[in-house]
Amino acid sequence: MANSLSHDIVIVGGGSAGIAAASSLLKRRPSLDIAIVEPSEDHYYQPGWTMVGGGVFEAPVTHRRTATVMPKGVVWIKQAAATFQPDNNQVSLQDGTVLTYELLLVAPGIRLAWEQIEGLEDTLGKNGVTSNYRYDLAPYTWELVRKLKSGRAIFSQPPMPIKCAGAPQKAMYLSCNAWEDRGVLGDIEVEFRNSGGVLFGVEAYVPALMEYVERYGIHLKLGSTLVAVDGPARIATFQTAEGEVTRRFDMLHVVPPQVAPQFVADSPLAAESGFVDVDQFTMQHVRYPNVFGLGDAGSMPNAKTMAAARKQAPIVACNALAVLDGKPPLADYDGYGSCPLTVERGKIILAEFGYGGKLLPSFPSWLINGTRPARLSWLLKSEILPWVYWNGMLKGREWLAKPHERRAA
Ligand code: FAD
Repeated sequence: MANSLSHDIVIVGGGSAGIAAASSLLKRRPSLDIAIVEPSEDHYYQPGWTMVGGGVFEAPVTHRRTATVMPKGVVWIKQAAATFQPDNNQVSLQDGTVLTYELLLVAPGIRLAWEQIEGLEDTLGKNGVTSNYRYDLAPYTWELVRKLKSGRAIFSQPPMPIKCAGAPQKAMYLSCNAWEDRGVLGDIEVEFRNSGGVLFGVEAYVPALMEYVERYGIHLKLGSTLVAVDGPARIATFQTAEGEVTRRFDMLHVVPPQVAPQFVADSPLAAESGFVDVDQFTMQHVRYPNVFGLGDAGSMPNAKTMAAARKQAPIVACNALAVLDGKPPLADYDGYGSCPLTVERGKIILAEFGYGGKLLPSFPSWLINGTRPARLSWLLKSEILPWVYWNGMLKGREWLAKPHERRAA
């Protein structure tokens, strides 16, 4: 017979959102019995990978062993979740263990669907094909940037949703800036091929970004989706409104298509999109009140970012405890997400916005005007935010993340 275990709260996914939520719960109620289901021994600060690809960070500063970030008092179940049975308050794991819960938090992130681009997996990490979306590949981005003196560099962006929608551009601007510094940018033809129809989804940031597109001489190709890569021949194929276009490249930075984790999409918890079907304000499941979804796996229409998870975790903690006590959710999420666009080494356009593209700056505009490149924002990304992540967010210290309590109806 399969093993059966029971916990007050089960959290599926011990990434950024899962660990932060566990810490926020324990901060509010230290006696809780929480289990985190997380198969990986490795935990990453993924926003740092842009800096690795830009030659600013060494890859290991973005990595810690999962064991070292697990909150004290939590039971870590080193397994992958396989199926959900929310009608019975149960999760089944890949080894057949069945966990029973009073409350379930679902935070297994988003899946990178590399296989959707023909030929890509065979050539990643060689033949000039790279991606900052993988820990082991981000250093190869910087190696390619350092070595390239002339030719064509293509940066691709797949259809939404993706985590950190600015990351494809960030890789490009930092590469261009390095080539500019070395005096070779004029010999490199740079193309940004984006499936979407706009440079960035929130218009307020587009003018400042366009200044960089022009400064670096980037050829902007919108409505262009990478569908195949022939690494040895160095040819990339894109689908456009006019049909297929093939482009030779010397460097290709790929951002993969991204989808809901399959086991979530296949479960009764899924929305039509495949993500966990939650109320976008409370993050409570729309059919199962004792289930919450957060982080990249949630169906909320926010920008999928670490910054969003930082805000969501305390809100979910408040709401989940209210439900555990038989009360309605207390706190609302405004859709906050943030994307620090590294437009050059030393300067960032700090996009911070919520639902409907509403600008939600964390700082007064005299300190940081997010719609303009700023040195202080670079300091934030390169020094302050990684520190806040490891020492604040993962530890239940809710800096820059106080939950908004719902007003009484
Ligand atoms: P993750 O942190 O990805 O964690 C998901 C966890 O679930 C993983 O540990 C995984 O092992 C686990 N899991 C998967 N399947 C299962 C299963 N079956 N059972 C149990 N566990 C499972 N955000 C920003 O705010 N600012 C940035 O500048 C920024 N830049 C980025 C740059 C890059 C290149 C990338 C890749 C991301 C960037 N992000 C940025 C986005 C940010 O990293 C993510 O939005 C954030 O990590 C989401 O947290 P999460 O917990 O939802 O997912």
